[in-house]
This record gives sequence, structure tokens and C-alpha cells, in this order.
Amino acid sequence: RTRDHAALYAASQSGKPVIALYIRETDLSVPPGGASDWFLHHALEAFAEELSIPLILRRGKAREVLDELIESTGADEVHWGRRYQLEERERDAQIKADFKELGLKVESHNTLLIAEPWEIETGSGKNYRVFTPFFRKFCATIDVGEPLPAPELKGYDGELESLRLEDLKLLPTKPDWGKKLAPHWEPGSKGAHKRLQHFLDDAVNYYAEYRDRPDYDRTSRMSAYLAHGCISPRECWHANNQNDVGSDKFLAELGWREFSYSLLFYYPDLKTEPLDKKFERFKWEGTQEQLEAWQDGKTGFPIVDAGMRQLYETGWMHNRVRMIVASFLIKDLLVDWRDGEAWFWDCLCDADPASNAQGWQWTAGCGADASPFFRIFNPMGQGEKFDPLGDYVKQWCPELKRMPKKYIHRPWEAPDHMLNDADVTLGESYPRPMVVHSDARNRALDLYKEMKS
Ligand code: FAD
Repeated sequence: RTRDHAALYAASQSGKPVIALYIRETDLSVPPGGASDWFLHHALEAFAEELSIPLILRRGKAREVLDELIESTGADEVHWGRRYQLEERERDAQIKADFKELGLKVESHNTLLIAEPWEIETGSGKNYRVFTPFFRKFCATIDVGEPLPAPELKGYDGELESLRLEDLKLLPTKPDWGKKLAPHWEPGSKGAHKRLQHFLDDAVNYYAEYRDRPDYDRTSRMSAYLAHGCISPRECWHANNQNDVGSDKFLAELGWREFSYSLLFYYPDLKTEPLDKKFERFKWEGTQEQLEAWQDGKTGFPIVDAGMRQLYETGWMHNRVRMIVASFLIKDLLVDWRDGEAWFWDCLCDADPASNAQGWQWTAGCGADASPFFRIFNPMGQGEKFDPLGDYVKQWCPELKRMPKKYIHRPWEAPDHMLNDADVTLGESYPRPMVVHSDARNRALDLYKEMKS
């Protein structure tokens, strides 16, 4: 995006010619997943169109790319957007220190968050592990300033080499997953603002009441745009507050994103290490076969399968369903939460190092302010409560579209004649449930007790 982009804005303020550079780093600590790269490709394409100067694309190690560019152009200022994973933070700090020593002006800027993680501390100078006091402090101390305008940029008039976007090889090929994702997204800042406006025109009025309903289109779907920087969280915050109605609940969800980044900053191993160390002893008994049935949306539990198929078809899944499918994988199938995190990482257009790890740890019960392990979602009950007519299930599991409402979330309980009428043959057209939920629940609770003792 060009609006509310602190690094681009600061560069423009120098009055000097600006080179807009995107580096595809080849040594990232965790390379982006497939869906995320697909989104990134198109977001870069849109960004290049939005910029009034050329967007230079390079591939390699950030330090080497910058050295070469500085040497060939004589640039004496470098500005970039900050990031929060430990390895990248350390790398960027080293680059900053080295360039300063060489006499360059180097500044990193907050382009991803509203507040920096270190700006929200407890009275005793520590980080928060519980969301409510974190967000209370956030609201009391952070002035969410006005978004910055898109800057006027003066281009560099020397020759500069740039890769073609295709050379970054971000698009999936085998299979060409992009074909599935494309109809659901318009990556880039124009698409982000269009979608935000759509949300603010109507859905925001019902957000608090209906945000848990996957059968309705009542959430903002800003996550992928935020994850790729197509829109800033400050823009979302302001747009909500300028709306006649606006939703405090929506602001609180943006607060969860900030909280997730605070956790990632203070616990750099959030993706791999449970915050509650007891969980290192948990016996994950689930099998590869079970993990694959879950990934394929073939567990035999309609709300779980609908969610997993929505994820694979669109690169996004509704928040309530993310919690249901994650709970099912971890607690019904006893598969390690890190395997679920990795699958989401690869399949989500909004894959985010902070929110994804936080979401998985929260569901597993080992994270900060987490849902306790013994809170085991009942997939049938959750389906009946949040998808009462079964519309969401019918959309993503069309083989169940003729099942009556009463059995849509538990087809194995339907009498034979109803299954016949609905053209459903369990084990053939739709899988039988892979576990008995009540037994699986008891087994999970036994293992939890064992871990604690
Ligand atoms: P809205 O309901 O419109 O919320 C507005 C914005 O607030 C979102 O775009 C997002 O940026 C933020 N937000 C909302 N809920 C949360 C939350 N629980 N934690 C952090 N931020 C939140 N979100 C990601 O952006 N990337 C992920 O990789 C991701 N992985 C998740 C994994 C699991 C297991 C779970 C339970 C949640 C995960 N979430 C993740 C959080 C949440 O599900 C998504 O942010 C939300 O569904 C995105 O849809 P939306 O933009 O319509 O959200």
C-alpha cells in the first residue's frame, strides 16, 4: 500500500529521489506457505500499479541486495517496515548497526501494527499474558493517530535492474491452486478498501451479534490484507470509528492481533514451543492418516469437514470454525497442535506468524490466556449452535445438501430411509465419523490428567 506506510512516507520526506524495493529473502526463518505466496504475488502486482515510481524486485539475502543497491546508486538513506520474528529482528538490527557505522541514515518504522509490542507493558514493566488487561492498557495509553497520506514520490532516474514478478516464483504450479483462490480475493490495497467498505456498509452493524456465524458473511475478511500490508490496522480502526455505527468488538479483534504480536515478540518460539511447558510432556497419539483425513476434510464430522474444505478452496476459514477444527485435531484426534499450525500456515492467505501460532496455542490450552485444555468443543453441538440450518455445511460438503436440518451435523444418527432420501451413503458418498466424540473426549482428558501428574 502507499497510504499509511511510515517507511515510504519517511523516505519521501527526505526530498530525495526514492527507490521502492521489495526483497524476496531466500533465508527467511519460516518461508511463507503456498496460499500466502499466491496472495503476495498479486498484492505486489497491485502495489506496483499503485506506486507512481517503479517497484524494484530482488531476490536473495537482504544484506547483500542492499549493499549492491547502495553501492550502485549512492543511496544514503534506508527505510523499512519492522518485523517481529526473532531471527529477522536480529538480522535487521545488524544491518541497521552496520549501515549506521558506514554513515548512512537508517530507520525502521512501524508499518504492521498500531502499537509496538514494547509500548504496552504492565505497571511493573512486564509484558501481558492476558488479553483483557492488555487491551485495557492499549486503549488507555495508545493514541491511534490519523493514517498517513500516500506520499508524493520523486523517482530515481538512473538505470536499475529489477526481476520480473514471475521470477520471484510465488505462484503455485502443481497443482495450480491459484485457480481456486482467485475468485475469492482481490489482493492489493484497492481490494482491501473495497472489502472494508462492504463490511462497514452493513455487516458491521451485526458484527458483535453474528460474527460467530460461519453461514453468514458478517466479518470483515481483512486478515489477508492486513497480513500482507495491503491495508494498515490503523486504517481499519479509523474507518470503523468514522462509520455511523462502528463496532467496539471489531476494534477488540484488531486488539487480539496486536496482542498476538506482543506474544510473538516476548516469546519468539511461539510457533514451536508451548508457553505452558507442561505440554512438552503431552502424549500425541494421533496418526499421520488421521492428520491427512482432517486436512482433506474427510473426518465424517460435517462442520469440521466444511471448514477444512473452505480453507483449501478459498485460503480462508471462519474464526469460529478455525477453533472447532483445531480443537478436533488436537483433542479428538490427539494430533500435535504444531501439525495443524503448519497446515494452516500453508493454506491460509492470511497466514500470520503471530496470530496463527497464538490461535493454535490458545485452542490447545497451552498458550497465553488460552482456552483450558478440558474445554473440548463438541463438533455436533457447535455445528447446531453456529450453523443452525446447516447452510455452511451444505455449501462446502455438497454431498450433504439434501440432509434434513435435524441430522446435518450428525448424519450417522439419521435413519436409513432419510439417508436414502438424501442420497447419502455413509462410508461412500460421505465418510463415517472417524472417532466417537464422547470416547475421544474421555481419552483426551485422561492424557491431560496424565500430563499434569
Ligand atoms: P474479523 O472478525 O473481521 O476481525 C477483524 C481483524 O481482527 C481480523 O482481520 C484479524 O486481523 C483480527 N483478528 C480477529 N480475530 C483474531 C484473533 N483471534 N487473533 C488475532 N487476530 C484476530 N488470523 C490471522 O490473521 N492469521 C492467521 O494465521 C490466523 N490463524 C488462526 C488459527 C487459529 C487456530 C485460530 C483459532 C485463529 C486464527 N486467526 C488467524 C485468527 C482469526 O481466525 C482470523 O483473524 C479471522 O478469522 C480473520 O477473519 P476476518 O478478517 O473476517 O476477521
